[in-house]
Amino acid sequence: MAKPKIAIFDFACCEGCQLQIVNLEEEILSLLGGADVVEWREAMSEKSDEYDIAIIEGSITRMEDEERLKVIRGKAKVLIALGACAVIGGINKLKNNFDDLEEVKKCVYGKAAGKPHLHTGPTKAVGEVVQVDFSVPGCPIDGKEFTYIVRSLLMGKTPEIPEYPVCVECKANGNPCLWQYDQVCLGPIIRAGCGARCPSNGFRCFGCRGYVDKPNVDAAKDVINRFGLNIDDLKTKMVLFGSRQEPTIYE
Ligand code: SF4
Ligand code: SF4
Ligand code: SF4
Repeated sequence: MAKPKIAIFDFACCEGCQLQIVNLEEEILSLLGGADVVEWREAMSEKSDEYDIAIIEGSITRMEDEERLKVIRGKAKVLIALGACAVIGGINKLKNNFDDLEEVKKCVYGKAAGKPHLHTGPTKAVGEVVQVDFSVPGCPIDGKEFTYIVRSLLMGKTPEIPEYPVCVECKANGNPCLWQYDQVCLGPIIRAGCGARCPSNGFRCFGCRGYVDKPNVDAAKDVINRFGLNIDDLKTKMVLFGSRQEPTIYE
């Protein structure tokens, strides 16, 4: 039986998530023993128009990117969004907070802002343009989670990512809660799966894995109120990975 064909594509991003895949080294060889990688710009020069699984890194910021993504979606049986940029729009979505993108471009590119290849529009996550079948969250992704998801698909199984918040992993690690140390940690509403990496190292969760599907809004509000803050205080801490994503906690 022919092996499934995998193609990896990148859009607007830093390519750090692809680097996480490259860093898997021997594990990636074992993983890809069950598949043929037919296109992957970061690691090989071959290209192909035929693939079963398309892995998409990066966010969508230009009309031509949307068209390219739709063509990829049309060819792939399964489409995976790779990393925060693809899954939730990521850091690129920060620019959506500004009304005048020309000003944003000037701020970033200075005198070069008018060059045609630098045109840009509001950022979209991959799922805002085409249907996404599976997501690998995080900025960057966790290599083990990526391996689990791809291996599951190659074995004909449906991969599942955690549907509980970072706090669960944080408490399992025995950490003191950072809210007690004046850090506005987003752990109660953010999807687990990173092993509570940031709070376990003394730094608040800033939300790179996106909101958990059904956040315990009442518990999160209790925490906010107990520490004398309100939703607006929380919003200012969500802007890095939560720009223009309105979670139910705001309601
Ligand atoms: S999710 Fe983070 S690490 Fe991955 S491509 Fe985007 S900015 Fe880079
Ligand atoms: S709010 Fe943050 S520090 Fe507190 S338990 Fe949750 S993840 Fe840990
Ligand atoms: S703790 Fe939060 S910010 Fe840190 S890796 Fe996990 S989800 Fe991302």
